[in-house]
Amino acid sequence: MTSEAIKISGHYTAGQQWTPAQENTIAVYSPLDGALIGAVPIATPDTIDQVVHNASRAFVAWSATPLKERVQVLFRFKTLLEKHGSELANLIQLENGKTWAEAKAEIDKGIEVLEFATSLPQIWDQGVLEVSTGVSCQYERFPLGVVLSIAPFNFPAMVPMWTIPIAIGCGNTFILKPSELVPLTAVRLAELFTEAGLPRGVFNVVHGARETTEYLIDHPGIQALSFVGSTKVARLVYQRAATLGKKALALGGAKNHLVVVPDADPEITAKNVVASAMGCAGQRCMAASVLILVGDTGNILDKIVAEAQKIRVGEDLGAVISSAAKARIEGYIDRAEAAAYNILVDGRGASVAGKEKGTYVGPTLIEGVPAGAECACDEIFGPVLSVLRTNTLDEALAIENSNPYGNAASIYTTSGAVARYFAERASAGMVGINIGVPVPREPFSFGGWNESKFGHGDITGMDGVRFWTKLKKVTTKWTASAAQNWMS
Ligand code: NAD
Repeated sequence: MTSEAIKISGHYTAGQQWTPAQENTIAVYSPLDGALIGAVPIATPDTIDQVVHNASRAFVAWSATPLKERVQVLFRFKTLLEKHGSELANLIQLENGKTWAEAKAEIDKGIEVLEFATSLPQIWDQGVLEVSTGVSCQYERFPLGVVLSIAPFNFPAMVPMWTIPIAIGCGNTFILKPSELVPLTAVRLAELFTEAGLPRGVFNVVHGARETTEYLIDHPGIQALSFVGSTKVARLVYQRAATLGKKALALGGAKNHLVVVPDADPEITAKNVVASAMGCAGQRCMAASVLILVGDTGNILDKIVAEAQKIRVGEDLGAVISSAAKARIEGYIDRAEAAAYNILVDGRGASVAGKEKGTYVGPTLIEGVPAGAECACDEIFGPVLSVLRTNTLDEALAIENSNPYGNAASIYTTSGAVARYFAERASAGMVGINIGVPVPREPFSFGGWNESKFGHGDITGMDGVRFWTKLKKVTTKWTASAAQNWMS
């Protein structure tokens, strides 16, 4: 592809794409085969000022539009997402590298959040109470203004959809800063919003990387922001926003533990553990990364190995996002080998015929790993599972509890009492029992604990409504003289 042929997907504002002539661009490559698939401009401060201006203007009318009318746009958008589901899955697969089924599944999860947002008129919790004779207090919920959402590479549609429908349903106008590695899906979502009848300027996309994001966070016209990405950046973004007095919620990385006890069902456990660790090539914040076998778990590990070996790279397992990610992940495996841990299944050097420039890492299982090893502690964000052993469930819980993250933790058992014991003690916001990716289904909210989240509340469900709105408390007293009005 010559440089002239590269398709540039612009920022999106005022109901259309916009590529300012003076801006530099970032090339977008497909992890599937390394092909150049597009480019996006890098927003300068002037561009951001203009987009924030557009969103501020749109806020006036959008926030004054009745909630029941606002959600009509979301209903139409849902129909369009369903109609264009295959096309969107193709695009997500192309720019992210995951399998088509995984790409389609993230749209379906996005639709679930959208469905929650369409029910906002039914769940709007504006309470009113007579607090003393003739005096009532009532809550009124207001949107915040122009809000920002900063997204990671691993879910080009689903993570943005955690926030967009709820935030705009609540009456805010919205700027999405997608990951510069996967910026194309965001533009397509914006086009579909316009087709659904969303007024111009309500939903905007701004492209760029760190500098663009920092300028957006600091912009006085932006009232609040959500962030999803690595813990290192989540902490920085949260602190930056908090220093400016802005409302912020920043979701970070994870290191999720799966615990298998002797009474676990071997078949269910083996399939589920492998699906959790290897799905989306391990690039999801809910992926299992540490497996702890408690006591004598029989042949469960052999079954897990067999399941992992069945996986066909390039068919059941997609690519990792970049050659840098592949090198980083394989570096962890190299060092585990050098430390004399047992590489039971080795995904290094994986490639797919005809797609030699694709960035693939095969399923990897590392056994004999001590609790303090780097592969047992760092977020590797690849299809790599470190296997540890303990004698007791309390020892396993101690390992899980001591990790700084807190997104997910799961146990495999056939005992209700053991499951309950684990659920009460795991230090994670989302706990699974015989489920390795315990993503709550809406209306249950998504959110981790500890260093997997900075800020208060969860990102979806009613917490999303609380985050993207502010409450006014109106106290009313009607006196007898007030009855002497023009009607008397
Ligand atoms: P990342 O932190 O590198 O980037 C996320 C976003 O922040 C991108 O849009 C990027 O352009 C921007 N950014 C990067 N550096 C920045 C800086 N210094 N200041 C401001 N903005 C900056 O994350 P990633 O590699 O795109 O995504 C993978 C990470 O996201 C993993 O750690 C994963 O666990 C995490 N994640 C967490 C959740 C969750 O719900 N907790 C969900 C999905 C992904």
